Amino acid sequence: MAIVEVHDLHKSFGPVEVLRGVDLTLDAGEVVCLIGASGSGKSTLLRCLNGLEVPTRGTVLVSGVNVTDPDCDIDAVRRRVGMVFQHFNLFPHLTVRRNVTIAQRRVLRRGAREADRVAEANLARVGLADKADSFPAQLSGGQQQRVAIARALAMQPQLMLFDEPTSALDPELVGEVLSVMRRLAAEGMTMLIVTHEMAFAREVASRVVFVDRGVVVESGAPGQVLGNPKQARTAEFLRRVL
Ligand code: ADP
Ligand code: MG
Repeated sequence: MAIVEVHDLHKSFGPVEVLRGVDLTLDAGEVVCLIGASGSGKSTLLRCLNGLEVPTRGTVLVSGVNVTDPDCDIDAVRRRVGMVFQHFNLFPHLTVRRNVTIAQRRVLRRGAREADRVAEANLARVGLADKADSFPAQLSGGQQQRVAIARALAMQPQLMLFDEPTSALDPELVGEVLSVMRRLAAEGMTMLIVTHEMAFAREVASRVVFVDRGVVVESGAPGQVLGNPKQARTAEFLRRVL
């Protein structure tokens, strides 16, 4: 079953067409890594999936719900789609536990004990069961990003979007975040991940999608796209980054 279906997606900001006809499908349990140069439209594409951007043209279906329909209940879609950003955006004045319970309480209307229970389970899942009473500033960047992942998981999403989740981290902290993501992939979570971590993409992705100047140039098995690209533009990009 398709969790994400994107057809002929266009997005312009003023006169600039950033997405120029993107087609993309994710089946349940797929892990798709999106690669491409800075400015190619990767973040815009992710943001169109949960209604943070309104497309100029085309359709986006998430679990069969048409996100681009003006009558769509976008809040209902957002409850099913977790998003993890480069900058973790934790509330600095709240403990880790409260960071992970606040949306559960306010959006899902869970009771305090249930929200705490789910928070603890998901903090354990990212290896931070012992940090529930800490404040974000007391944690490393890698730990903060893992809290952000736990916060997204606590909403029990059907889909997780990651936008360069390790790009803001010191190199020695990248591995712990990738390990958590690797574990989620093994558990069958459907994930769309914008990343520059090519070794991770090669190992974990079921598919790698290369985006250039607002179009999908190439999509396929990680070994093929990264190791033996069919398109000259993909090869050229990989030469620059590898
Ligand atoms: P990527 O994530 O691949 O680096 P983005 O999707 O962030 O690319 O951006 C693609 C292009 O769209 C860039 O040129 C960026 O400046 C432009 N852009 C993104 N968001 C906006 C916005 N809100 N207003 C105007 N231009 C934008
Ligand atoms: Mg981006």
